[in-house]
Amino acid sequence: MNEYDSELVRSILLKKKFRFVENESNADIIMLNTCSVRENANRKIIGLIHKIRHDLKGKPVLIGILGCMAADKKEELLTTKNLGVDFIAGPDSYKKLPNLIEEVQKTKLKTFDYALSDTETYSDIYPTREDGINAWVAISRGCNNFCTYCIVPYVRGRERSRDFNGIVKEIKKLAKEGYPQVTLLGQNVNSYKDGKKDFPDLINEISKINGIKRIHFMSPHPKDFPDKLIKVIANNPKSIKHVHLPLQAGSSRILKKMNRTYTKQGYLKLAEKIRAACPGIAITTDIIVGFPSETEKDFKDTVDVVKKTRFDAAFIFKYSPRSGTVATKKYKDDVSPDKKTERIVKLNELQKEISHENNQKLIGTTQEVLIEFIDRKKEAGNFCGRTKTNKTVSFKAKDCAPKQFVNVKIKSASAFGLKGDLVI
Ligand code: SF4
Repeated sequence: MNEYDSELVRSILLKKKFRFVENESNADIIMLNTCSVRENANRKIIGLIHKIRHDLKGKPVLIGILGCMAADKKEELLTTKNLGVDFIAGPDSYKKLPNLIEEVQKTKLKTFDYALSDTETYSDIYPTREDGINAWVAISRGCNNFCTYCIVPYVRGRERSRDFNGIVKEIKKLAKEGYPQVTLLGQNVNSYKDGKKDFPDLINEISKINGIKRIHFMSPHPKDFPDKLIKVIANNPKSIKHVHLPLQAGSSRILKKMNRTYTKQGYLKLAEKIRAACPGIAITTDIIVGFPSETEKDFKDTVDVVKKTRFDAAFIFKYSPRSGTVATKKYKDDVSPDKKTERIVKLNELQKEISHENNQKLIGTTQEVLIEFIDRKKEAGNFCGRTKTNKTVSFKAKDCAPKQFVNVKIKSASAFGLKGDLVI
């Protein structure tokens, strides 16, 4: 979402008197588009601002902070002495950036706008994109779910969907520009709604656009997964055969404390349904270990879901309190650091084994691969791309190029990807 927002900012500023330079040493204005999901991300940005100021050696460059951190840490950013931030713009304030910059240039005083909006979707801005293979397209912004560990609803505001026809129009334009793939984005992408049109309707409509060959989306919430959506993913040939289905925890007791609104059984049933409707589909997930009060029994539930669902990959994090969230206010961070480490290591090992086994099953199959880039670190003629299940594949070839679809016969597989030969 941040990459997409940077593309929006690029478009907004290019329409005015601004231009972008390759190197920050040539810039008069440096903007950092920040993520605030983890407390550590905030610390990194503060460190980065100090480093930039130090490297500038007194050169009069304006520094702006954009994104979630501008909404979350506004006081600190504006009032900390010697931090050297000149302007801040929250996620709903990007259209005001030209004015904010002009004002700070004129007055030499800090400027800011971090007010959250119930309506801003940037539907009227066509982002200036750089990558010609995949186009990020935000279809909604904000979130209403208030998972107790998460800061997003506070820094990105309430959920609002873009208008259906505007999204379709934008993607038609992308198809004309030659993008073969779009990734639909939303903090809770599958709760998209515009009047009577819902998320499955949107996928179906986009799939009618000539030139668009693959439709990805992220991240869905398990609570918004009706049979209609499962059918579209399974039956629409342009829909990616991959679902990232955040589990977060396997214990129904912990899920309740997280306010995830589904249970262990509900999640398992949904994953089973998806696999039954679409054999061979890849399912990946996010998991948090060591959420407050997580016992061995709770952790065993998570292990059980991982074993039963057989994820293709999992992004596993240790719980860390995030200031401003309900979990931080209500629950004591009482799982010891050693216990969290023990659990994350165990789960990562298990997941690695399962990913390896899942990928091994693909040896001997032929996969349609969208070439993403030439891997220049290795020998010449080494290409990397992705299968329709979003797995990475590397292969050697002579006359191929990024953006091309090719068939690759899988020869070997690890937990992290596949290798194969081009089928001519
Ligand atoms: S669904 Fe939960 S975890 Fe995801 S953005 Fe919304 S509040 Fe955060």
